[in-house]
Amino acid sequence: MPKAPIYFDNHATTKVDPRVVQTMLPYFTEHYGNAASRNHAYGWSAEEAVEKARKQIASLIGATAKEIIFTSGATESNNLALKGVAEMYAEKGNHIITAATEHKAILDSTKHLEKQGCRITYLPVMADGRIDLDMLRDAITDKTILVSIMYANNEIGVVQPVKEISKICKERGVLFHTDAVQAVGKIPVNVMEDGIDLMSITAHKLYGPKGVGALYVRRKGPRVQLAAQMDGGGHERGMRSGTLNVPSIAGLGAACELCQQELTAEMKRLGFLRDKLKNKIMSELDEVYVNGSLEHRLPGNLNISFAYVEGESLLMGINDIAVSSGSACTSATLEPSYVLKALGAGDDLAHSSIRFGLGRFNTEEEVDYVAGRVIEVVKKLRDLSPLYEMFKEGIDLSKVQWTAH
Ligand SMILES: *Cc1c(COP(=O)(O)O)cnc(C)c1O
Repeated sequence: MPKAPIYFDNHATTKVDPRVVQTMLPYFTEHYGNAASRNHAYGWSAEEAVEKARKQIASLIGATAKEIIFTSGATESNNLALKGVAEMYAEKGNHIITAATEHKAILDSTKHLEKQGCRITYLPVMADGRIDLDMLRDAITDKTILVSIMYANNEIGVVQPVKEISKICKERGVLFHTDAVQAVGKIPVNVMEDGIDLMSITAHKLYGPKGVGALYVRRKGPRVQLAAQMDGGGHERGMRSGTLNVPSIAGLGAACELCQQELTAEMKRLGFLRDKLKNKIMSELDEVYVNGSLEHRLPGNLNISFAYVEGESLLMGINDIAVSSGSACTSATLEPSYVLKALGAGDDLAHSSIRFGLGRFNTEEEVDYVAGRVIEVVKKLRDLSPLYEMFKEGIDLSKVQWTAH
């Protein structure tokens, strides 16, 4: 039996690769200079580490080093991209287009901008989780300054048609930002081939440390301008002031280099493991549904709804496995995932969903174990479910007249 608890929540965060930790260590106690100190060797070695990391990130995403702005993570990168563009291009227009299934770091930023007078269009998604390109085309107006659509979704792993989106934006002279946190290092992402103008990434989703990230900002064709959201010493070409977190930046760089080296093999390995997990579960259980497109999907993601089972009960039953459910505990109520609801899932199926996020350190032995545990617990819960029993007896539950006592 694999060592418990088993970590299958790699969309929430990832273990730092031990090779990344080794790269970071000297920058705490040996090369601890401020990268902005221009007149001594401590500063120079810190700056050297930062510039190396900039190149490693740029190389992974097909950018140039000067186009990488360091931040504290993707929440900040998303805030900087959206608010920075809205402020800088306010004379051109005040309309931004995004999607209903975006991460809260986008949706809360657009909500903030709405209060400041911006108009925001939230595109719905189709049943497979992808946006409708015709709806995007129709939503663009003369006042549109930015389209922000995530590369891959953090709950369902669905990959958006980024190349097609960027093409539409380019035709209309609108900037295109993408939250690529879940995609970079997991599938091929190239800002040139994909036509991306701004892109958010974070280290802790690609086997680097927490609290450091980057924003890619295009410098040519077009040269994107941003209004800084943090005032200070004018670091990062004036776009993001604040002393650079050198050890973490070195870690982000090393993490990107490892992803670049291992991407092809890892995609294949994780795709195989994910399919094995899915096939095992689906061959043993009926009434299970995969949420979102299987074709356009991150190799390491599986999001399944188990009908007639409550997600929370399932999670409790498999408490030796770290996964997420489609119910988010917000305040006193258990709200079903807004992402699953956007796909058209009913509350029941949204509540019964589990997100499996496979990553670099998961093994086939773990997949076999997790599949077995899930099957066992779902069967047990369904044995106790009167609704499942009625379903098995062929009773159409939608036609049942429920009476309250
Ligand atoms: C995790 C995540 C974020 C937030 O990144 P932080 O670095 O934790 O702030 C933003 N977008 C997506 C899609 C994510 O998965």
